[in-house]
Amino acid sequence: MHYYKWNITKGPTVSEVNRRTLPPQERKETLILPYVFNYNCSYRCAFCVQSREDKPPVVAKDARSVVDDIEALNSKHNTEYMRFYNNAFNLSTSFVREFCNLVLERGLKFYWSDCARFNNLTEEMVDLLYRSGCRKLVFGLDTASKKISKLIDKRLNLEQARQVLGWCHARGIWAELEIIVGLPYEQEEDFEDTYCFVQENMQKGYITGFHLNRYFVIPCSLLGSKPEQYGIRLHCSPDGYEKLLKRSAEILIALTAPQGDTISIPPRQYQILRYSELTGRTVEQIVEETEDKFKRMRSLMQR
Ligand code: SF4
Repeated sequence: MHYYKWNITKGPTVSEVNRRTLPPQERKETLILPYVFNYNCSYRCAFCVQSREDKPPVVAKDARSVVDDIEALNSKHNTEYMRFYNNAFNLSTSFVREFCNLVLERGLKFYWSDCARFNNLTEEMVDLLYRSGCRKLVFGLDTASKKISKLIDKRLNLEQARQVLGWCHARGIWAELEIIVGLPYEQEEDFEDTYCFVQENMQKGYITGFHLNRYFVIPCSLLGSKPEQYGIRLHCSPDGYEKLLKRSAEILIALTAPQGDTISIPPRQYQILRYSELTGRTVEQIVEETEDKFKRMRSLMQR
């Protein structure tokens, strides 16, 4: 259960720490199976790769086939634990209902986690998810600023998001949020909206953690391919991909250095594309402010 409860990126670390610290007789290895059953996304958030012009349609397996697969996989590998890697488990209400009802009808017992959207969840559906084995959901909030949410076409109702987090908490589903700092035209008050939303839900115990991301331009996304429509201008780094690859290699070498070696991780801020605002900040101001917001938001996580 640590694997589900901890921040989803830290699950493997928890496993590794347990493996190293527990005496052999107390170790119990648990297999957690990864499984993907839908690809692409029906939304088009402007920062996301899924907003690109040539976006392929959603490809999703039907609920009955998914449950058949899970039944067969869990029996074959003798485990009750799964981690789904979909963009969103609840792409459609009908899928959620059919999946959960099939799991319950067949009396299957397994636990799972996935990403989800707030949009179509009700209290009754959260209860159904729990009863079908769901123990963790990661929600893409990205921002709690109404202005930025509109700019990126997030189609998110903050009041509903609060409700869903409360229902998850009450029912026993651990919830996490995806957060992005440094989106175009994010002023201090927009950042404050996001900061306060996260803080409020942490204090209530509604979220067990969040994933903090600095915004970077994805060239094929709407923001990257139509920057003028969003009031931004793109600036290409003269370093190009060579330098990016070199830095990636340095980080990989540092992270995989044998214990005892001095590990120095090079700065993580490497981006091919940056942006300035046509009626606002320069590239340098944006980089500086984003770094400051990142640190302030991260301090919430550390608390
Ligand atoms: S951010 Fe999430 S919901 Fe939005 S388009 Fe991308 S995958 Fe879909």
